[in-house]
Amino acid sequence: MKDETCIFCKIANGEIPSATVYEDSDFRVILDLGPATEGHALILPKNHFKDVCELDEETAAKVLPLAAKIGAAMKKTLGCAGFNLVQNNGEEAGQTVFHFHMHVIPRYQGGPSIVKWECQPANADKLAQTAEQIKSALS
Ligand code: AMP
Ligand code: ZN
Repeated sequence: MKDETCIFCKIANGEIPSATVYEDSDFRVILDLGPATEGHALILPKNHFKDVCELDEETAAKVLPLAAKIGAAMKKTLGCAGFNLVQNNGEEAGQTVFHFHMHVIPRYQGGPSIVKWECQPANADKLAQTAEQIKSALS
């Protein structure tokens, strides 16, 4: 389940060198080449999945525990106060590499403000309508 044209398949499987912080049979965790903060890491499955909707359940179940482990190691070693988990799906959502990956971004006291959005006022009727729309595809 590799894609010959995918750069993250090549990195995850060691065909292209990377600053690797962790590796097991399912994943490689590397440092991002364009870090948002010092230590910004990417969790890459070794198999190719375009995004979270394509991820198989077995791999999906391992991603969050691994992200917690990486984040805890960052807190211990880099002195960050916390970390963000970010995972983009689709071009409009900011995905630029179409091989599933989860960002683990260390956050430092006094560091830059990232992963923030402006809250819009909510309308109760609109919330109810939108909830019904999403629910209709889940049943
Ligand atoms: P996204 O925008 O969620 O698709 O994230 C892609 C991330 O991959 C960006 O933060 C890039 O800086 C990073 N990136 C792209 N190419 C490489 C590479 N060869 N090695 C490490 N990080 C990369
Ligand atoms: Zn790939």
